[in-house]
Amino acid sequence: MPSPEIRRRIAHRLDELLARCRAEPAGSVAHLYDPARGYYPPEEAGEEREEFAISVVTVDGERYDAGDAEVAFPLQSLSKVFAYGLALADHGRDAVLTRVGVEPSGDAFNSLRFDERHMRPYNPMVNAGALVTSELIDGRDDAERLERAIALQRDFAGREDLDVDRGTLDAERAAADRNRGTAYLMRSAGMLHGDVDATVERYLAQCSVHVTAGDLAVMGATLADGCRNPRTGTQVMPRRRARDVLSVMLTCGMYDYAGHWAFDVGLPAKSGVSGGILMVVPGKVGIGVLSRGLDAYGNSVRGIAVCRELSDRLGLHVFASEAEDAVLAGGEPAEG
Ligand code: GLU
Repeated sequence: MPSPEIRRRIAHRLDELLARCRAEPAGSVAHLYDPARGYYPPEEAGEEREEFAISVVTVDGERYDAGDAEVAFPLQSLSKVFAYGLALADHGRDAVLTRVGVEPSGDAFNSLRFDERHMRPYNPMVNAGALVTSELIDGRDDAERLERAIALQRDFAGREDLDVDRGTLDAERAAADRNRGTAYLMRSAGMLHGDVDATVERYLAQCSVHVTAGDLAVMGATLADGCRNPRTGTQVMPRRRARDVLSVMLTCGMYDYAGHWAFDVGLPAKSGVSGGILMVVPGKVGIGVLSRGLDAYGNSVRGIAVCRELSDRLGLHVFASEAEDAVLAGGEPAEG
C-alpha cells in the first residue's frame, strides 16, 4: 500500500499530465465518432470534445483518476481484446490461429483485405478478425454466447452492472452494412461458417457495452497481472492467455498506426473509435484514457499524447535499453 504522500504525488502527476496533454496541436483532430452520427468533423463537436480522462490501476489494485474518469462511452474496437481472449480460452491457441492470424495488416480496421495465403483475417484486432472471434465464442445458443462475451468484460472490469447500451446498439445496427458485407464475403470464402447475422449482431453488441476510463484501467491491470483482476482477486481467464492477447495488442492494437506505436510507445494497447485507449504495462499497471478527437487512423489524439508521455518519462518501452526503475511518482524523462 503506498503511503498517502506517494498517493498524493501520483495523483498530482496525473493531473499535470492531463493539463499538459489537453492542448491538441491545431488540425490534429480529423474527426470524432458517434454511433448515431458516424464520423463528424471537429467543428461540429460540442462538449464531448472537452471530455478527457486518464485512469491508472496498479496490479495491487490501487486506482488513480484524473479528469472525467466516470464518463461512460462504448467499448467499440476495445471489445476485440476480450472477444479474442474468450475465443482463445474456448478453443486454445492453435485452433484459433487456424481461423485468425497474428499479423499486422497495415490496413484500416474495416478493410476487406484478407491473408489469402492462409485464408483468414490478418489479426483479431481488425473487424474481419473480430467477426471470426465472435463466431468462435461458445454457448448453447446465441443468447448464451453473447452473455458469455459480456460476462468476460464484466469480470475484467470487476463491474457486474456493465452492459450493452441499447441506444448505441441500435445506432450500430443501422450503420452495419460494411460489417455485414465483410461477414458475408468471409463466409463465401470459408472464413466464417455459421449464422452470419447472429455473428454480426454479437460483434455489434460487444462493441456497444459502455465503460469508463476507470473501467478500462482495471481491465488493463487485469491483463497486466496475468488475467487476475486486482480489484476483485478473480482469475478471469487462464494466466497464459494474457501473453497471447498482449502480444497481438502490441503489434496490431492501434489500427494501421500499430507499427509506429510499437516503435514509439512500445507497450501493448488497443484503441477504439469512441476515443478510448487501453494500455498495459505488463506486470505493473493498466491505463485507460478517453478523449474523443481522433486522428486520421482513428486513434485518440490526446490519448496517444498521454501514452507516449507516460512511456517516455517512465522509461516503459518494452525494448528500452536500460531498465529504468522509475515509478509514477518520481519518473524523470528518459534520454531522447
Ligand atoms: N463498431 C465499430 C465498427 O465495427 C467499431 C470500430 C472501431 O472502434 O474501430 O465499425
